[in-house]
Amino acid sequence: MSVRCDNNLVRTVALAGNPNVGKSTLFNLLTGMHQHTGNWTGKTVGTATGECKRKDKVIRLIDLPGTYSLNSHSEEEEIAKIYIESGEADEVAVVCDATCLERNLILVLQILAITSSVIVCVNLLDEARKKGIKVDTKALSKILGVPVFGISARKKDGTDALVEYFLNEKEEYNPIIVEEDVVKQAEQISKQCVIYKKSDYTFRDRHIDRILTSKVFGFPIMFILLAIIFWITIEGANYPSKLLSNLLFAFESELMGFFNLINAPVWLSGMLVHGVYRTVAWVVSVMLPPMAIFFPLFTLLEDFGYLPRVAFNLDKCFGKCGACGKQALTM
Ligand code: GDP
Repeated sequence: MSVRCDNNLVRTVALAGNPNVGKSTLFNLLTGMHQHTGNWTGKTVGTATGECKRKDKVIRLIDLPGTYSLNSHSEEEEIAKIYIESGEADEVAVVCDATCLERNLILVLQILAITSSVIVCVNLLDEARKKGIKVDTKALSKILGVPVFGISARKKDGTDALVEYFLNEKEEYNPIIVEEDVVKQAEQISKQCVIYKKSDYTFRDRHIDRILTSKVFGFPIMFILLAIIFWITIEGANYPSKLLSNLLFAFESELMGFFNLINAPVWLSGMLVHGVYRTVAWVVSVMLPPMAIFFPLFTLLEDFGYLPRVAFNLDKCFGKCGACGKQALTM
């Protein structure tokens, strides 16, 4: 709910966008928060709220779940759609990935069909530049009839202009009429404002993709990678586990000595030291090191974009059980 009791509240802005377009990065940058949400199926879906305070003015930001469309095929899409339709936000800022603008424009158009209070943030401009992709944000703004900002959230490029825009009076927009075939319309718009300097800009990515998801190499690579990660986790955890248990159990005798010193009854020292302390020490020394190794490695796979490939590879197998590949990651 947008609470309007705050006198300094300038406006409420909802951040929408496809998954992995840098929405959370922008949200964290503007609000000073540190939220991280994974994108695999099975995670809790929800919206995060934060405030961006500048010059005694407050902009409330609502981070909607990442969605590819608003067709209500998933919980994320449902939540995002209901929120946008509710009109609780004064404006919806759609964060787009400059390296694949065409796909992102589908969501922009679907949101424009619901509300005209839309602004577009074309993020990952640094990444696009590296790939030789140029997005003409002025042309895009003209075509869409709404403000468009080019940003690189990770490098904080262009985000000040965005905040400045939020702090000022809301403008009236004259957005484009959304056609029935949004996919085709997105394609046409993209052709008019995206320039590919290198025609083979996705060649390397597609080549790697073809190998990682191929019938011959897909499964072996997946098993080898996962086996390496589990091996590092299990083998690697032995050393810190041993260190931790030595440290914690050395302290156990000190603790017991202390209880003897104060003449504590045996049942009390037994319960606290041999019961509570020993259990906690075991759990910490056995569980903490594998977790501290596994989760960063899993996050690395996520950030490299390998997890969606695993989901793709396993989709057929999971489909046979009436599930889908994305659930492999939760499993
Ligand atoms: P979300 O799923 O849309 O919330 O995306 P995240 O904020 O989690 O970002 C996905 C990945 O893109 C992370 O690894 C970010 O560090 C990275 N990222 C976000 N913004 C930028 C940017 O402007 N440039 C580059 N190169 N990477 C970015």
